[in-house]
Amino acid sequence: MTATRVLVLNSGSSSLKYQLLDMRDASRLALGLVERIGEQTSRLKHTVAGSGETREQDGPIADHDAALKAVAGELARDGLGLDSPDLLAIGHRVVHGGMFFTEPTVVDDGVITEIERLIPVAPLHNPANLTGIRTARALRPDLPQVAVFDTAFHTTMPESAARYAIDPRLADRYRVRRYGFHGTSHAYVSRETARLLGKDPSEVNVIVLHLGNGASASAVERGRCVDTSMGLTPLEGLVMGTRSGDLDPAVIFHLARVGGMSMDEIDTLLNKRSGLFGLCGDNDMREIRRRIDEGDQEAALAFDIYIHRLKKYIGAYFAVLGKVDAIAFTAGVGENAAPVRQAAIAGLEGLGAAVDPELNSVRGDGARLISPGSARVAVAVVPTDEELEIATQTYALVGKSN
Ligand code: ADP
Repeated sequence: MTATRVLVLNSGSSSLKYQLLDMRDASRLALGLVERIGEQTSRLKHTVAGSGETREQDGPIADHDAALKAVAGELARDGLGLDSPDLLAIGHRVVHGGMFFTEPTVVDDGVITEIERLIPVAPLHNPANLTGIRTARALRPDLPQVAVFDTAFHTTMPESAARYAIDPRLADRYRVRRYGFHGTSHAYVSRETARLLGKDPSEVNVIVLHLGNGASASAVERGRCVDTSMGLTPLEGLVMGTRSGDLDPAVIFHLARVGGMSMDEIDTLLNKRSGLFGLCGDNDMREIRRRIDEGDQEAALAFDIYIHRLKKYIGAYFAVLGKVDAIAFTAGVGENAAPVRQAAIAGLEGLGAAVDPELNSVRGDGARLISPGSARVAVAVVPTDEELEIATQTYALVGKSN
């Protein structure tokens, strides 16, 4: 019998998210999350996909090794254990693949060394992702482990989009360039948008707006990314839940010299206490909309700044692509917040984009169009599925040789 199951692991600094999929029909068998690893109050929440049964375990889970063993135990209770011959491979989300990793890669010692070498440009994420890889390798050394990189989809960007206007030698020495993130989502959503239009990805140009707590935009030309809003790190670009996105780099010198702030303080300010949260004290779009409905001016201004930035990127990517077939909204805000979609597209009729208020307000699960039939540019809501994309890429890589 051929193994067809893929376990997807997304390992954070204190969390481990997982999904087990059967790639014969891309169905989910189980999924879950271990939170607060290393604390006394760790929690494992495991859901069996078919029955929807959910089991929770509370109590200290010391490290990622213990977390993965606990997950393996839960999976085994349903006959889905990691020692099952049906398990083909483990697919790992890795945030930063630099310029080196342009596609999913089977992990060996050399790959681990290379991911380690990227830690200076991804100090928060790559160490956690590596812990997940090492733990899974130790548990099942015989099983192919595949690293799927958030940056890989963006490695097709031309140098004109990827380079900052600084001395290239200096940039190369310190590996300073636009890498972009959320690539797995941008890849999946741009492809699904083409499918929604009944076209092949190579036939369409799509602007993808991934609006979650982190947010990024990308310009995808005939299936290849040609520009994206996040840069060296996920701080650049759109206004996000707690990140400022674009600002004049001199703001940093100013805060240091005039404000007397340290680099670490400014880093924390811009990454954790800015964006929607910095502007109005809330980073959840639901709460912001509720406050606006009650007449809150601060929340209204935060919303307007968020939308203004979004519009600037949409306009920029119209210019980068020349011709746009579709604009796709995805992730928590993009999939759920109809007022954000309405406001971001309002006034773009001259560019051929419009939103039908009724279609926009209907809630739905799947990919759907929200533009009027007459619009030249389709506007769509396309739910992202990064786990499915990681499993698909892992299966494509390992399944072939199996
Ligand atoms: P992450 O970047 O953490 O993966 P998600 O893509 O899950 O985030 O998005 C989370 C965000 O989505 C929340 O912070 C909230 O702002 C927004 N969100 C979720 N549901 C809704 C909703 N029904 N209406 C408006 N915004 C929502």
